[in-house]
Amino acid sequence: MASESEYYIVNMDTDRERASRLRRRLYGVHRQFEKQLRVIMRREPVIKGIVYILRRRCGKAGCRCVEGHLHETWALTVPEKGHKRMRSVPKGQRVRWSELAGRYRRFRRARAMLVKLFREILKEVDALERQRTIPPPEP
Ligand SMILES: [Zn+2]
Repeated sequence: MASESEYYIVNMDTDRERASRLRRRLYGVHRQFEKQLRVIMRREPVIKGIVYILRRRCGKAGCRCVEGHLHETWALTVPEKGHKRMRSVPKGQRVRWSELAGRYRRFRRARAMLVKLFREILKEVDALERQRTIPPPEP
């Protein structure tokens, strides 16, 4: 049977291991946080919305679209207070607009990750606080 002092040493060890595990986790989450922050801090412009191809019939009798060769136009949909606004993509701008919109998506994804990671950081900080807190020392 372990004496009281031996038990205390074992307990101190697991506490220390727990503390360093907490710190390692906190550093890990912090690194991920920094990675997402770098996406947010880039300087290139972004455009809000999604670039996609619209296929439709024009309605003119005898047009090739009647037989299924639909007209294709590139469009950008912009979410706006509960509805979507549509803009057609100017000729020759498809690649550029797609890039701009892609950056916006990555920006938003990074933002969502930051929210999640920040919650995790706070959780780890609170765990570390509990781990570090001791009763007030005896006078
Ligand atoms: Zn047509």
